[in-house]
Parts: sequence; C-alpha cells; structure tokens
Amino acid sequence: MDPLWLPRFFSQHQSLSTQELVSTLRAEPQIRPRWRRAVPASIVCISNLNVDSLYKTLAESFPISPELSFLSHPPVKFDSALVPVGEPSDRYVLFLDAELDESSKRSLLEHAIAHLFLGHLQLGDINSHWDRLEDVRAGNNASRRWDREASALRAGDVRAEPSPEFRVAGLGLAWSRLLSGNVDMPFASAQALADSRRGDWIDVSQDLIRQADLFPHQARGAAEIAVRLKRLNVALLADSVGLGKTRTTATVIRLLRDRGELKRAAILTPQKLERNWRNELKLLNLTMDGRGADAKLINKDKFKRLTPREAAQEVSG
Ligand SMILES: [Zn+2]
Repeated sequence: MDPLWLPRFFSQHQSLSTQELVSTLRAEPQIRPRWRRAVPASIVCISNLNVDSLYKTLAESFPISPELSFLSHPPVKFDSALVPVGEPSDRYVLFLDAELDESSKRSLLEHAIAHLFLGHLQLGDINSHWDRLEDVRAGNNASRRWDREASALRAGDVRAEPSPEFRVAGLGLAWSRLLSGNVDMPFASAQALADSRRGDWIDVSQDLIRQADLFPHQARGAAEIAVRLKRLNVALLADSVGLGKTRTTATVIRLLRDRGELKRAAILTPQKLERNWRNELKLLNLTMDGRGADAKLINKDKFKRLTPREAAQEVSG
C-alpha cells in the first residue's frame, strides 16, 4: 500500500466531521486490516482535558491495563490523548478537549491517525500519546520527533513511511539489533557519532576530570552518553561491574546541568545503592534534596508498586 494513501484520504474527505472521518476510514476497503483496527474506535470529548480528568473517565468507562502509561511525560494540560483500551488493549480511544472547535479536533484526529499508521503506537501496548494543538500546528517544527514524523506523513512527504515496528526513540530498533547480533564494532559508534556531529561534541573539562577523579574510559563514556542523550534522547551504559557506572552517570548529569540542558535527573535505585549514589553525586557538587535539586533519588522497589499517575508525579515532583 502506498504510504501516501493516508494524506490523500484526508484531503479527499475534508468536509467530514471527526466521527464521520473515523467511520469512513474504518469502512474503507483499501485499508490494511492492521491499520483498520488501529483507527480510533471512538472519540470522547472531555472538558478541560488533563491527566486527572483523563484517568477519571478511563476508570469510569473503559477497561485499561493497570500499567497504562504515557510515551512521554504529559504536561498539566493537553488537547488530545490517544489511549489504548481493553485488557489487553484491542482498540484506541481518542480523547479530545471538548472546548476545541471542529477543525482543531480534526487536526488532532488526523495527527493521531498518522501516529498509528507510522507504528508509533500499537495495539497490545500500554502506551498513550498526548498532544497539544500548538505542537501539532507547528508541523515540521514540532519539538518531538514522533510529531515531526506524523506531520511529514500528513503533509504527504514522500520520505514518511509507515513503519511496522514499534519505535520509541529508537529503542525498538536497538532491541532488535541487539537480538540479531547486529552491533557496532568496538569504537565504531563513538567515532561515527563524533564524525557526524563534530560541532555537538561535548568535552569533559580537565577540572571536572580532576574533581571526579575520572578514568579515561569514564570521561569518554560520559561525553558520549551526553551526546547520545542530546541527539537520540536515550542512552544505555553497560560497563562491567566495578568500572564506575555510577560515577560516569553522575558526570553526565553534571555535564548536562552545567550546559543548562537538564533541570533535574530522576535516579531509580535499589535502597542498598542509595548511599553510593549520594556519595557520587556529592563528589560532583550535585544537590539531591528539596525543590530545585539537581537529582532526585527514588527507591526502585517502592516505585514499581506505584500507579502510572503516582509514578509520573514521583518523577516530576
Ligand atoms: Zn503527536
């Protein structure tokens, strides 16, 4: 199926309301069954849509996974949320802010459907996606990569391709590469990264190396992780036991904080490592307690028993 079928469908059916658009899309014979199932099964409008009102409505009216969460941390107020319902999830519901006008609702619906066609969310997952109208309208300037991809598809960009795989900031891709043994040669990734974005390279100053008493592999690791986080929003540090992962990570936090790119780091740790974390953070003059602290230590065992909402609050609060 031509990936640009979707934007053509949208432009051919511009006069339809959100509800009509959804039912027409579901009845469309050309559409693949997988995508037909992904079209939101219903649209629910809520006044003053926010995390609390959303969970309240979900709890009252829909079966949801107890682990239901968001792909990215939601702001206080958003304009739409695409939520998988059923247990396990077998359909989507699109929640819209009731105060929006019809054309804004339509934009958010098209945007949500583009996400589904691109495979950003899939049935069986427990992830929801929120959007703000201003971000969706920003199109290719949207700050989130998924949103830029969804905009590209809606705009009929030939480079936008529906993806069969589930991709959260590249995690799905990294996972399948790991499983298939398709991994970089030693140093190849660091070198490629350095070459591709020379201007982005983050240096660990000699002062910081001395203060944290870093080994060369830690200084280099911290610099690479900081760059990866900037570019990909995700990084995995998997040094062997005893090589100083905690110190390397504390250095990353310090680097990003000094550059004004990180307000606060949430650290999930088992209780027995908490003291170690405190010592390492203190060594780098990173604060841990109270408002405005550089890092927040969270007990991993308590954290995993929280509801998604409590967990979100714990991380952000
Ligand atoms: Zn979006």
